[in-house]
Parts: sequence; structure tokens; C-alpha cells
Amino acid sequence: DVTATKGNEFEDYFLKRELLMGIFEAGFERPSPIQEEAIPIALTGRDILARAKNGTGKTAAFVIPTLEKVNNKKSKIQALLLVPTRELALQTSQVCKTLGKHLGVQIMVTTGGTTLKDDIMRLSETVHVVVGTPGRILDLASKGVADFSEASTFVMDEADKLLSPEFTPIIDQLISFFPRDRQIMLFSATFPMIVKHFKDKYLVKPYEINLMDELTLRGVTQYYAFVEEKQKVHCLNTLFSKLQINQSIIFCNSTNRVELLAKKITELGYSCFYSHAKMLQSHRNRVFHDFRNGVCRNLVCSDLLTRGIDIQAVNVVINFDFPKNAETYLHRIGRSGRFGHLGLAINLITYEDRFNLYKIERELGTEIQAIPPTIDKQLY
Ligand code: ADP
Ligand code: MG
Repeated sequence: DVTATKGNEFEDYFLKRELLMGIFEAGFERPSPIQEEAIPIALTGRDILARAKNGTGKTAAFVIPTLEKVNNKKSKIQALLLVPTRELALQTSQVCKTLGKHLGVQIMVTTGGTTLKDDIMRLSETVHVVVGTPGRILDLASKGVADFSEASTFVMDEADKLLSPEFTPIIDQLISFFPRDRQIMLFSATFPMIVKHFKDKYLVKPYEINLMDELTLRGVTQYYAFVEEKQKVHCLNTLFSKLQINQSIIFCNSTNRVELLAKKITELGYSCFYSHAKMLQSHRNRVFHDFRNGVCRNLVCSDLLTRGIDIQAVNVVINFDFPKNAETYLHRIGRSGRFGHLGLAINLITYEDRFNLYKIERELGTEIQAIPPTIDKQLY
């Protein structure tokens, strides 16, 4: 329950009076659960890896300790708040300015798409906290315009995005500009497997916070079948005839393919609903409701349904199209950790999918086996 707190008050953290004023003026009465977990630890300087749902107050969870730690007498950059997008940079800097209103802390926001010259001008004056996106920050740091050598705080919001392959080389370089004893804090709502490598490389005994309902692959037997694209429907037909399906969900990677496949399945003589993001919400709701009530045995859908579904009667999930990343895979296949909940996941893998298969297997630390000629009914 995201609203259940330990009953702490912001006063309990011994924050500067000016910061408390900013917090209360922002209308925050008491800390949210992620704030209760993160703020006291962050104030000790320990590295943090925090996962909490969207909308639960992660921003203030890192902004408050960051602001608290700034010494405004010192005219040096003391913290970097790194985010993946420009809009988020603006929003985050706004939170900093609101909460830090009475602190006399100088906050600067910089993103791609503005002139470097303005940033250089701004950085010739005092800046305590920099909020920005990776490319621009690296640019400023490597040109020696922004000096992070005394920046003791490095926060990455939406950390899983920032650690995706497009950004990792930038992050690696950026970190090299920080002092050795910097504090790193990672915040994200999504599954942090991708974060593991970074964690092992850079974080020192991180305090891990996880306020998500844990998805787990326990109890799910996972198989793959190598097929050619044009053999997929035939393969599915074989699966339908061999498996004892209570209810199944079949995933495609596009709305077009959802409709086409649903049509094919119906032609094969199996009952089937479909749902995708381009359908009216009311229609989607009805489909989902009816499926849940067992009106139909099979549901073809795109990824709109993957989060938070937990239909006990579904004992088989088929990835007609293999997902692009581990997180999507987990959301499609994973169960929300309920006891004694068995299931079968079958992945149709084309030649192009094979590297992705190995990658996802590795990232999730799970095993996806070749499909055997017969599948033990005990498993699902
Ligand atoms: P997240 O990053 O976890 O998705 P945000 O940091 O964007 O969430 O916060 C979501 C909303 O909750 C914002 O509008 C923010 O002002 C509000 N909020 C955050 N902390 C508190 C609090 N302690 N009390 C009241 N509102 C809060
Ligand atoms: Mg956020």
C-alpha cells in the first residue's frame, strides 16, 4: 500500500529550518513511503538503489537530502541530478526550486536544445545543484565548463533509462569527473536488472529500497521454439492441439498483428478475443472483463495488458512475437508472486530473435529451455 507510512514526520529528519519551510509551503504534510525509506539513509551519504511506483514522490525523496547537504557558502557544484529527458529536467529543477526556495541554493537546469553559450555564462556564476540530461552535462564537464570535482551527490532519476545502452558510455565518462567518495543514488519505477552491472561497478554497499509488488518467474516453466515467421501460425495451431489450455494470453508486438492473428485463430476454429491500444477503452474493458470471467479461452493482445494482470485461470502465455526487452518479458510472463501459481510460457523465436532471447535470459537470470516433444501437465 503506497499510502501506508511509518508515521514519520519531516521534522524527524533534522533538516534545515529553511528547507522544512519549503517542504511545507509546497503542501507536503508528511513524507510518503519512499521518502520515509530514502531520506534518512540518503542523509547519511550512503549509495541508494530505490524502486517505487510512479507518482509516489520519488523526486522529493532525492531532492530533499540533496538540498539538505548543499553548503551554500561554498561556490562549487555539489550535486548533479541526471534525468533522461528535457521535460523531466525542467520539472525536476522546478521541484528543487520550490523545495529549496528559502535555502539560498543556486540551481541550474541544462538540457540539449539550448545554446551552450548561455550555460557557460550561467556557470561562470555560482551553481550548487545542476539538473540536466546526459549529453549536455557531459559536454559541459568535458569542456571543463562544469566542474564536478567537488560534487558529492550524483542522482539518476529514471535510472533504468539512463543506464540503457545509448547512455551508458556517457554515464561512464561522467562519473569519472566526480570525486571518488561521491554518493550515487538511483531511482526508478521499473525493473532494475539492467542496473545490476552499474551497481556492481560503481555503488558501494548500496541501500536497496523496493516498494514494488515483486513480479516473479517462479512457478512459470519457460520454453522456446525456433520457428520461421511464416510458420508461426502453424506452430500455434500445433500448440493449441497439444496443450491443455485453461485460458491463454497470446502476445504480439503490434496492433496490426494482434488483429491479424486473432482472425487466423478464429479461422482455425478456436475461440478468441483480442485487445490492443488502438481500440476504445470501453471496448477494451469489456473484452478484459469477459475474458476474466471465462467467456473466451484465448486472448490475443499487445503490451497494453501486460502490467498488473493476474488472471488465475490463465495457465499458458504465448509470445507469438518475442518482446524486445527483459522488462516487457517479465511483465508478460511474470506473476505477482502468488503462492502455488503455476504456468507455462512459450516463446516463438525467429532467427532474428535469438540474441534477444539469450540477452533476456541473462538479464533476468532465468532459464528458457527448448520446448520438449511433450509437456508435463503437472507443470501448468
Ligand atoms: P514519482 O517520481 O515517484 O513518479 P513525483 O516525485 O513526481 O513521483 O511526485 C508525484 C506527486 O506527488 C507530485 O505532484 C508531488 O508534488 C507529490 N508529492 C510528493 N511527495 C509528497 C508528499 N510528501 N506529500 C504530498 N504530496 C507529495
Ligand atoms: Mg519521477
